[in-house]
Amino acid sequence: MAELFYDDDADLSIIQNRKVAVLGYGSQGHAHALSLRDSGVDVRVGLHEGSKSRAKAEEQGLRVAAPAEAVQEADVIMVLVPDPIQAKVYEESIAPHLKDGDALFFGHGLNIRYDFIKPPASVDVCMVAPKGPGHLVRRQYEEGRGVPCIAAVEQDASGKAFALALSYAKAIGGTRAGVIKTTFTEEAETDLFGEQAVLCGGTASLVKAGFDTLVEAGYQPEIAYFECLHELKLIVDLMYEGGLEKMRWSVSETAEWGDYVSGPRIINDQTRAEMKKILGEIQDGTFANNWMAEYNAGLPKYNEYKKADEDSLLATTGEKLRSLMSWVDEDK
Ligand code: NAD
Ligand code: MG
Ligand code: MG
Ligand code: MG
Ligand code: MG
Repeated sequence: MAELFYDDDADLSIIQNRKVAVLGYGSQGHAHALSLRDSGVDVRVGLHEGSKSRAKAEEQGLRVAAPAEAVQEADVIMVLVPDPIQAKVYEESIAPHLKDGDALFFGHGLNIRYDFIKPPASVDVCMVAPKGPGHLVRRQYEEGRGVPCIAAVEQDASGKAFALALSYAKAIGGTRAGVIKTTFTEEAETDLFGEQAVLCGGTASLVKAGFDTLVEAGYQPEIAYFECLHELKLIVDLMYEGGLEKMRWSVSETAEWGDYVSGPRIINDQTRAEMKKILGEIQDGTFANNWMAEYNAGLPKYNEYKKADEDSLLATTGEKLRSLMSWVDEDK
């Protein structure tokens, strides 16, 4: 059974008695920095010269310093710059200024799990990862609620690292909703697997294959788009509210029967074997190493894949149809 922690299990004064540097002011960075401040924590934001986020952070009443300077001042350093550049930021701006007893915090386990960052034994290494996008983390905090978080300790130099992580989670509203204890390994591996096999990769490929099958058989692309992509949201909303049971309760009996007999032919033994292979490549570091190599080469394949999908009939059909539905994607 997972270990869960709520407000009463966390002591806010621990983080209030530290000096926190939040490096990065993007989706997560802005939410953490603002909510830490509103929870009475001494916080500064670390951003490089010329960063567009600098003016925004200052406008919102936060003190901004160069990353190295912020690390020097602080004794808790939360790394919220993009994952592929964290190792470089660590080498250049963090490692030279880490002191014994400092705590290094992350919002995702990738760089520690795959040893791209190797902190000295004299510092705590913790993770507080909200299970939601940064803008929701901030909005829920302001509304007196919170986004659930997962928390982990990779290295407990102080002997009190988990209490510190819980205190940090409380300051951003996480313990209002619940914090689950995990490890860097479990978080990094399940996050990568989920986004590749199911959430992003699996779903995108399923949509594309369904759309292509209908269009190649001569059906109208607009019909295929509604059937294979647009309606997916309605189905997923039902699953979110009440699991597969609610989805099956709501759809017709015909749809439910088709689900049972055809679903396993799509996600069959071969697909399950491939999922295990993908998980293996996540566990043995192949995926992470390949991704870093791609990133450092300037993203040649990433850009090629992106362009191909942006030029596809699925994309152009969707763009046309969504522009006729004014209520979809209102903030585009
Ligand atoms: P982001 O891309 O939204 O923001 C990155 C920030 O880093 C920007 O403010 C950018 O200006 C800044 N930055 C870039 N280079 C920098 C440098 N050299 N020095 C200092 N700052 C620099 O990133 P994000 O999506 O908030 O992700 C941050 C971390 O949080 C990642 O580890 C990610 O996996 C994790 N995370 C993100 C989400 C999410 O909702 N996006 C959810 C859970 C965990
Ligand atoms: Mg995820
Ligand atoms: Mg992820
Ligand atoms: Mg239908
Ligand atoms: Mg039914």
